[in-house]
Amino acid sequence: MSNIVAIVGRPNVGKSTLFNRLTESRQAIVDESSGVTRDRHYGLVDWNGRQFTLIDTGGYIKGSDDIFEDEIRKQVIIAIEEADLIIFVVDVTLGITDLDQQVANVLRRANKKILLVSNKVDNTSRIPDSSVFYGLGISDEIYNVSSVSGSGTGELLDEVVNNL
Ligand code: GDP
Ligand code: MG
Repeated sequence: MSNIVAIVGRPNVGKSTLFNRLTESRQAIVDESSGVTRDRHYGLVDWNGRQFTLIDTGGYIKGSDDIFEDEIRKQVIIAIEEADLIIFVVDVTLGITDLDQQVANVLRRANKKILLVSNKVDNTSRIPDSSVFYGLGISDEIYNVSSVSGSGTGELLDEVVNNL
């Protein structure tokens, strides 16, 4: 398979909701509590005649914080290996957390194109809050998205297919 895009990020940022929005499906399991998506889910996306495979990561095992962090790191490393493009999702309502930093640390060492998505930008008043994510040192471009309403996802999809 080619044209593989992986969605990564710490639990609860909205990876599965974004996956569902982009694939317009219910293939990933979304839950109110964090870390419940057990397996990696694959979906096919067609955007203006361009196709790619989207992966929703986040099959986390329960355990101590250390194991949890380790599992996230593992997921990100696998995503880097198998994807042509990475979508790194963060949550505008919480800003940068320790786990976001850890994910960013792994991603920064990867030689892959990364699209940084500030999710939960449900209204435009939240856009300024996204600028904190420049501090992750991942990208000087931030895509403001609301996976719940779908706003910003068209621009994101344009950018995805432009980078494949
Ligand atoms: P994951 O653990 O990263 O896969 O996150 P989920 O997709 O399971 O979402 C975690 C929580 O965030 C759920 O309660 C979602 O409804 C919520 N959520 C996801 N995207 C958005 C969004 O764009 N806006 C808001 N307000 N909530 C969202
Ligand atoms: Mg999930």
